[in-house]
Amino acid sequence: MKKNALITGASRGIGRAMAESFAAAGFDLILTCLHQIKELEELGRELENSHGVRCRCYAVDAGDCEAVTDLFSRIEQLDVLVNNAGIAHMGLLQDMSPQQWHRIIATHLDGCFYTSRLAIPLMLARGGGHILNISSVWGNVGASMEVAYSAAKGGVNSFTRALAKELAPSHIQVNAIACGVIDTDMNRCLTTDDMEVLRQEIPADRLGSPQEVAALALLLTRAPGYLTGQVITMDGGFV
Ligand code: NAD
Repeated sequence: MKKNALITGASRGIGRAMAESFAAAGFDLILTCLHQIKELEELGRELENSHGVRCRCYAVDAGDCEAVTDLFSRIEQLDVLVNNAGIAHMGLLQDMSPQQWHRIIATHLDGCFYTSRLAIPLMLARGGGHILNISSVWGNVGASMEVAYSAAKGGVNSFTRALAKELAPSHIQVNAIACGVIDTDMNRCLTTDDMEVLRQEIPADRLGSPQEVAALALLLTRAPGYLTGQVITMDGGFV
């Protein structure tokens, strides 16, 4: 029987690469994005044509409980949930508005809660499943000028570890990938000079690719059942 995966934030970057890898592996997909629904639908059609899988695409704000609940009313079965949707915010904490703060926390952390709570019963009905959260090294060590983002991803890491304990008896594995600097549009706000400084700090001497994160994500859906509650850092030796 075909397996189903929900990937949030799949219109570009890491989410898009994961959609491509999961489709190539034969998963039927439910893909979401915030605004770029045309691009997402185009990707869905491409994947259906090239891999013979079913792709359903929706614009759903990961930080909106009602919208996520509405999405799940259309999902009958689920084997893999990938919480990937994310946004960056750079700036001093003292200049950040409460609205900006809540937006970051809602997208990254509330989003994991809104999807997971509805995915769990579907996975219990299948006898197991995988929840995979795309996190950041800043959630491990914190970053200046990215306090809200670091706090949100730190929360995602703790959410991962705690939920893994809760769900291990039910054969649902919960893991996270803490990414270092990955070459996506999320980093386009940085200047070429900033990117060069960053690159020089990375022992691997390059940024990671979205395809590398996707390859690890797919591996984790095939990992032995005893691997759960882990925040796996993928950063070229950066942090
Ligand atoms: P990206 O900006 O290229 O893509 C982000 C995706 O998330 C898009 O599809 C966008 O539509 C979607 N999205 C944003 N807000 C959303 C919302 N509220 N609801 C639904 N979808 C939403 O970013 P990326 O680099 O591919 O990032 C993917 C994940 O990886 C994020 O969680 C990010 O925090 C994490 N990450 C990225 C890096 C990096 O260097 N690129 C490093 C560490 C962690």
